Amino acid sequence: MNTWIQIAYLVATALFILALKWMNSPETARRGVIAGVAAMLVAVAGTLINPAIAVSNYKWIALAIVIGSVIGVPLSWVPLTAVPQRTALSHAFGGLAAGLVGVSEFYISFSGSGMELSSFRAGALCMEVLLGFLTFTGSLMAAGKLQEILPTRPITFRGQNIVNIGILAAAVIGCVALTVNPSYAILFPLIIVLALAFGVMLIMPIGGADMPTVISILNSYAGLSAVAMGFVMDNKLLITAGALDGSSGLILSIIMCKAMNRSFANVLFGAFGQVQASATKAAQKTVKSATAEDAAQIMEQAGSVVIVPGYGMAVAQAQHRVRELYDHLTKRGINVKFAIHPVAGRMPGHMNVLLAEADIPYTDLVEMDDINPEMPQVDVALVVGANDVVNPAARTNKSSPIYGMPIIDVDKAKTVLAIKRSMNPGFAGIDNELHYADKTLMVFGDAKAVVGDLAKHLSGENGH
Ligand code: NDP
Repeated sequence: MNTWIQIAYLVATALFILALKWMNSPETARRGVIAGVAAMLVAVAGTLINPAIAVSNYKWIALAIVIGSVIGVPLSWVPLTAVPQRTALSHAFGGLAAGLVGVSEFYISFSGSGMELSSFRAGALCMEVLLGFLTFTGSLMAAGKLQEILPTRPITFRGQNIVNIGILAAAVIGCVALTVNPSYAILFPLIIVLALAFGVMLIMPIGGADMPTVISILNSYAGLSAVAMGFVMDNKLLITAGALDGSSGLILSIIMCKAMNRSFANVLFGAFGQVQASATKAAQKTVKSATAEDAAQIMEQAGSVVIVPGYGMAVAQAQHRVRELYDHLTKRGINVKFAIHPVAGRMPGHMNVLLAEADIPYTDLVEMDDINPEMPQVDVALVVGANDVVNPAARTNKSSPIYGMPIIDVDKAKTVLAIKRSMNPGFAGIDNELHYADKTLMVFGDAKAVVGDLAKHLSGENGH
């Protein structure tokens, strides 16, 4: 039986690695997801055949599977725009599971029926519950902020960083003491309380705009907690799967920090995402606006159009209208490309997923670094519900909170058409000079309706 379990774990590990590799590219991403699901099934099946599980315990496992499915299946129905908070909830459950397994393993050690609590085991258990429980409360806070059940703005107070570091330091000192002398069992519940408190305190001062990056960091904590659990339970699959989870979460947060030109420290302690007063003054400046018909006429004359999608396209679910527009433009011999900013939308890959759903060829999706050198030659840049990722303040205004963040240089195109509903700022809460530029025409309205109108005008149905 043991051989079968090891084979199942080996197959699952290989599938997890392939899943990550395949998820690297839009063409193979679906296969990657299927491989990940298959890996998890094989891992669960391999665990269920473990003879260490008493037959009488299967009913409890069945009950847990039912409860998990009742919570998990509806979670999978959320709209794409709510995926970041859904992901945060999954991490919360992952952290809670790791933490609870750690608690039971710890107390079993004292019941005489479990393994003796060596220093190594005590240390691994401490890491498991510390990371597991802080991921639990931290991820719940992150989900609450993203769902706007909790205030999305950063909540700060004087001496906050010192308080936070103090809580973490106390928990770490507790872990060290318990590792040195595993009989100090009283420290264990204290470590749990400190970890739960630290999770809340860590997320409190972080603004909504930074939440996806934080979720990715919490993902890596949940993975590391699983690694510690793997050491406690001597389970190699947990160690490898947890390490993959931990490292991929970390790599993703590094990519996101780079795309926003932020450091980890700045994300965790920078209180970014507060709405600036200047944004509210936006209405006093003048902008030029155009109707969808005007915009369509400008596009008809263009040789090249670059479409820059952003969060507004996701909210409006405008991707299918964008596809129609793409078809009409290309039929007219206009060269159309999509400029993809790595943090456009609210989660990594958000725009790629939406455009793939609308069957827009992957070959016409161009990454920011590749499209920017071409922007000065582009006739029309059509911005569909993007704001922060095209804000030139990131290049020019040293006092802007997004200064240094790489952007798509739409302001260098010959004409800019910007579709959004109002002059409201984007997620960073700051005004956008692009909208007041001479070459920019605002096309106000819901992205789905406006792009639909554009497509209609360009289809020739309106006599063009
Ligand atoms: P923004 O949030 O900057 O702007 C979106 C714009 O869309 C808003 O200005 C809004 O204006 C408009 N909008 C909203 N709904 C609609 C609608 N129905 N129709 C038309 N327009 C609409 O989005 P970006 O994609 O430009 O930037 C993403 C932001 O999120 C960046 O600040 C980035 O740093 C941050 N972020 C993203 C992460 C990611 O992984 N993608 C991770 C971390 C942070 P109006 O209300 O006037 O319509």
